[in-house]
Amino acid sequence: TITDKQVVKWTYSTCGYCSTGCAIEIGSNADGKPVASRGVGGADVNRGKLCVKGIFEHEVFEAQGRGEIPLLRGAAQQSFDAVGWDQAFDKMAAEIARIQAQYGRDAFAIVSTGQILTEEFYTLGKLARGVIGTNNYDGNTTLCMASAVSGYKRSFGSDGPPGCYEDFEHTDCLMAWGSNLPEQHPIIYWRMKEAQEKRGFPLIVVDPRVTMLAQNADIHLPITPGTDLVLQNALIHVILAEGLEDKAYIEANTNGFEAMAVEVAKYDPTNAAKICGIDEDTIRTVARLYAKAERAMSIWTMGINQSTHGSDGVVGINNLNLVTGNIGKPGGTSLSITGQCNAMGTREWSSCSGLPGYRALEKAEDREEIGKFWGVDPEFFPKQRGLTETDIFPAIETGQIKGLWLVATNPMTSMPNTARIRKAFEKLEFLVVQDSFADVETMEYAHLFLPAAIWAEKEGTFTNTERRVNITRPIKQAFGQSQSDLWIFNQLAKRFDQGRRIEFPEQPEQVFEEMKFLSKGRLMDVSGMNYALIEANRGIQWPYTEQHVEHGERPKAGGVRLYTEPRTFRHPDGKAKLIALPFIDNNEVPDEQFPFWLNTGRLVEQFHTRTRTGKIGNNNKFSPTAFMEINPDAAIELGIKHQSYVRVVSRRGDAVVMAMLTQRVPKNMVFVPFHFFDCVNRLTLGLLDPYSRQPAFKQAAVRIEATDQV
Ligand code: SF4
Repeated sequence: TITDKQVVKWTYSTCGYCSTGCAIEIGSNADGKPVASRGVGGADVNRGKLCVKGIFEHEVFEAQGRGEIPLLRGAAQQSFDAVGWDQAFDKMAAEIARIQAQYGRDAFAIVSTGQILTEEFYTLGKLARGVIGTNNYDGNTTLCMASAVSGYKRSFGSDGPPGCYEDFEHTDCLMAWGSNLPEQHPIIYWRMKEAQEKRGFPLIVVDPRVTMLAQNADIHLPITPGTDLVLQNALIHVILAEGLEDKAYIEANTNGFEAMAVEVAKYDPTNAAKICGIDEDTIRTVARLYAKAERAMSIWTMGINQSTHGSDGVVGINNLNLVTGNIGKPGGTSLSITGQCNAMGTREWSSCSGLPGYRALEKAEDREEIGKFWGVDPEFFPKQRGLTETDIFPAIETGQIKGLWLVATNPMTSMPNTARIRKAFEKLEFLVVQDSFADVETMEYAHLFLPAAIWAEKEGTFTNTERRVNITRPIKQAFGQSQSDLWIFNQLAKRFDQGRRIEFPEQPEQVFEEMKFLSKGRLMDVSGMNYALIEANRGIQWPYTEQHVEHGERPKAGGVRLYTEPRTFRHPDGKAKLIALPFIDNNEVPDEQFPFWLNTGRLVEQFHTRTRTGKIGNNNKFSPTAFMEINPDAAIELGIKHQSYVRVVSRRGDAVVMAMLTQRVPKNMVFVPFHFFDCVNRLTLGLLDPYSRQPAFKQAAVRIEATDQV
């Protein structure tokens, strides 16, 4: 007898949580119900493994709160009425037209995500830029990876991580900046650990907290929050002072050395130590270790990006690798570890920050090319990027933006200083929430809800952290009346198009064909790929071009690394830029009134705002509620007991959490995970990086008060 738990069919997909990009198979039973998940053995990324989120991913399809049907807020404003798709689209088209006619095209804004498929990003970009015509379109990736994008562009002339996971197998020294792989990217951690056991390279971890990764470090640098730039400058100072730089590489491949050298000369380790909190001998030791290694690489995540110096921090890492000749060679690289499963897809194709395929709104030839291909008058495009997500909410507060469309993002939990976000939502005349779940906190302010299919109810591609394009196939029909985001965008395009007849292909692979055409000859060329080839190879790294196919090159040989040849950087002269980075202390810092640093981060079982993992028992039972890590010495002074409740207070608001006494944090710091609603982001300040507009989630000042409240 076949039980209802027995798998009768396995369907290929790519995990829909983090950017590691694990190849996964979802097993369905005889009724077509998903009942199991397993890693794909032949996949380069995960080699059959999954983390705790992936193992239970089949439970997400019918998790509590799935959106079943479009919902329209009723006339009394208190509740929603179920409506048909036609009525929902009519209402949306009418409201957008009204807002744009009354207040101007840019008064309607769109904020998307890093969660939907690349073909969907591309189509949303076409709809936003070419049809609706708003310039205020961004993704929630501004909260996680904008600084990496900005830093790559400033150093190398283009976004696009130059390295890959295989670099762990070639490196002689690994430095991890603000990255806690075992909790955030467990399978990348496993790849790194396995390589380290074989090669024995030293692991240096820069993090103010003793994270799980820091516990495994050979050298842990518990840096003062927000001062990575000082450490980076001091490391390069030592390298130049001791003549350890790679002169030939610098000469052949970079500009700007002299100005950078003048700046780093100011960062003598003795002085730098006073700012960044790392003693001068350790700074010298690390600088020598990194520079003398034949191949050294740096990885980083939110600890660098989510800072007022985020973009500079990325450039600082690139500077370090350029002066030591560690870009474009196996084991020598700057690898940003992205957050969401398809954050890379939005960077490449979404048009959030420009036009598809890393094209720029600022460049007339890019506007011409895309306008011609889409059938849009290039004059219709704005000539520069509009507001980012972090600037859209203040613009709602001031009345500049009146309508907002959220696609698979939940700013009520994810944005800093949520009291301010609430005020902005209250001012909106029209809010559309498009999501797979109808119980996201942002629904409190929605006028219209569009139920979207979840990742493996659809077909299309994701790009992971190492530029690997992988595919997901539909495992089952979408839940209830929900539809793929691609279908929703296409239906809306028909309503908004007003007779211009811009083509919106209906099938995902037809969209992929458009993307292939537009990618030809560009850094992220995918013209040699197709869905069958991608699946057969369990993902292919870009660039993989028609020429690769003609020359019979295996997909694996395509784009393992970028910038492997001299002077192939994307600045006009082919050289990378070394950039002088003066440190300006512009953060909120602890004082008498608010004496603790507040640090925020992630837990291995949860993903983002728990829209999904919060509903999956096997994930949620291990971390069902928020807590605050506090050092026992600080707790004793404040009379706080382990597992008692405390009130954490900042200048923005307060939150009540359970105290967890642990040596993971120093005496002057507390840590609260960010996943939980109405919690730590009531406290965060969210000062912005001037280049990327990414908020500094990890630096705020708080005080701790005992409370009886639970
Ligand atoms: Fe999914 Fe990331 Fe876990 Fe891999 S490491 S199974 S991609 S959540």
